[in-house]
Amino acid sequence: MAIERTFSMIKPDATRRNLTGKIVDRLESAGLRVVAQKRIRITRAQAEAFYGVHRERPFFGELVETMTAGPVVVQVLEGENAILKNREVMGATDPSKAEPGTIRKDFAVSIGENSAHGSDGPDTAKQEIAFFFSESEITG
Ligand code: ATP
Ligand code: MG
Repeated sequence: MAIERTFSMIKPDATRRNLTGKIVDRLESAGLRVVAQKRIRITRAQAEAFYGVHRERPFFGELVETMTAGPVVVQVLEGENAILKNREVMGATDPSKAEPGTIRKDFAVSIGENSAHGSDGPDTAKQEIAFFFSESEITG
């Protein structure tokens, strides 16, 4: 299995509750390496563009509100099978359906405030990394 990179984001509901370290621990314990990381506030325009695929969904307005309600931590994760591994460690979108021991089961508030984002495939990983990081910010 090749070494892969994926994009990860610790969402405002988690930074607000001081859970950044606990979430990073889950990622690192699963064998993922944080090769780039920054804590930022995303603008409304950035949130709308980042989640543009969901523009027509009924929860889009709420999604943009929650993603801009506080700081986020954006990350590039690296490891074997990193995209799928990160999705497994996060658990299902709806925390009530997530497996025990996953980030969303243990930390999420609701389906909207679900503590973490992870890219869902190689193409989105590449796009989402480039959305927030320049190549020189990814240190390995
Ligand atoms: P993410 O893209 O954030 O990693 P995901 O891929 O598990 O999550 P998506 O279907 O891409 O889930 O939805 C993107 C985000 O939109 C979810 O993480 C969640 O915050 C929000 N969302 C999805 N479905 C709902 C819903 N029914 N009600 C409220 N918010 C929702
Ligand atoms: Mg998604």
